[in-house]
Amino acid sequence: MGVLCACLLLVTPLVISAMPLSPEGNPTQEETAGQFWHISDLHLDFSYHITEDRTKVCLSSKGAKASNPGIFGDFVCDSPYELILSAIQYIKDSHQKVDFMIWTGDSPPHIPVKELSTKIVIDVIGNMTSTIRSLLPDLLVFPALGNHDYWPQDQLPVKESEVYTAVAEFWKPWLTEEALSTFRKGGYYSQIYKSNKSAHSLRIISLNTNLYYTPNKVTVNMTDPANQFEWLEDTLKISRQNNEKVYIIAHVPVGYLPFARLTPAMRETFNERLVKIFRNYSDVITAQFYGHTHRDSIMVLLDEKEKPVGSVFVTPAVTPIRSALETDSNNPGFRLYQYDTTDYHLLDLWHYFLNLTEANLKNESSWNLEYIMTKTYQIKDLQPESLEGLVKRFQQPESIEFLYYYKNYLVSFDSRVGCDPLCKLQQICAIQYVDEESYTKCIIGSKEFK
Ligand SMILES: [Zn+2]
Ligand SMILES: [Zn+2]
Repeated sequence: MGVLCACLLLVTPLVISAMPLSPEGNPTQEETAGQFWHISDLHLDFSYHITEDRTKVCLSSKGAKASNPGIFGDFVCDSPYELILSAIQYIKDSHQKVDFMIWTGDSPPHIPVKELSTKIVIDVIGNMTSTIRSLLPDLLVFPALGNHDYWPQDQLPVKESEVYTAVAEFWKPWLTEEALSTFRKGGYYSQIYKSNKSAHSLRIISLNTNLYYTPNKVTVNMTDPANQFEWLEDTLKISRQNNEKVYIIAHVPVGYLPFARLTPAMRETFNERLVKIFRNYSDVITAQFYGHTHRDSIMVLLDEKEKPVGSVFVTPAVTPIRSALETDSNNPGFRLYQYDTTDYHLLDLWHYFLNLTEANLKNESSWNLEYIMTKTYQIKDLQPESLEGLVKRFQQPESIEFLYYYKNYLVSFDSRVGCDPLCKLQQICAIQYVDEESYTKCIIGSKEFK
């Protein structure tokens, strides 16, 4: 869709130049604002190397020809180490005052199961952990496991395992002994973070939603894998009693995939149960953060009366990989959130990206600000009501805000396909409805679907 690209090229620089930026392009902080980074889906491909035979550049292309391989990677490959290093280095060099970082998993590459092993998977997670630790030694990180952080991939277990034990050792510098003890048993934990400007404590709940992921065969006939639902409800109850606020972090997101139709990211029954818990505790849960889809998207959690009660964010991947079946990909990206330190509600989001083609051409990793959420979409903050108002504007025909959203969804990857009315419907229904009944009604009841 040629029109789409022309519009975006014209509008993007205007949007960005309107921001109150410091000389380095960094946000200026309010007194009561805190910040944290969110990074996801690093997917290190340790086999990546530039070679004449383009089918042999990386194992993750599974024999497909690399399109334009350079030192920072290629759109059919997972991340070379150089790309991951450049992302972490950018975070370091930005000198942003942040309170912590969220890291939502998937370190190993998309390569055939037989080419990996438990040892390789553990080594890759260890390598990524020490890369972050060596560049950002003073940064507190709250990690979550991804479906690739296990061997064989997706089959995360409901009890102690070699991977959980080894990863708990890697993450010891960041997590408390209490957090590590549940992590060792089921790959999940919660931990308190307290801002000295707030009367409340913030509780980070890191869920192992890989246990609910559709390809996980281990949990097929289970109602509560690793007793995580029970633990989650107990933990939220305690948070409510203690007047805490909660951020949910996990890899596989709740809700429906924006690029597919009628497909939740996790098994339907698990998704329904999770949505119910999130609705019941929407007074406690301030926001939710996920990865896994490799795309930049939002969701609004509505209660049974369709009142917006939750803000959900999916951060795109650092890896630029696309499968052989896909025409579109994503440029590498990560983000910085700003929150109100008095009650932890989200104020804004600054998304950074690397134009991979350009970086390879110049042999230079020029990470840049891609957009600022409140400015690009003209919303006052990232609270559920603001996101709900935004999605209403997305629904308008020819919505310029939706054009921005779709550009950002692909992290400024130059889409030749664009988003036709059916694509837009899938996107809108996935943003607005996270439970089966209302999501299905949204899709089936629309004129685009008929
Ligand atoms: Zn991933
Ligand atoms: Zn994943």
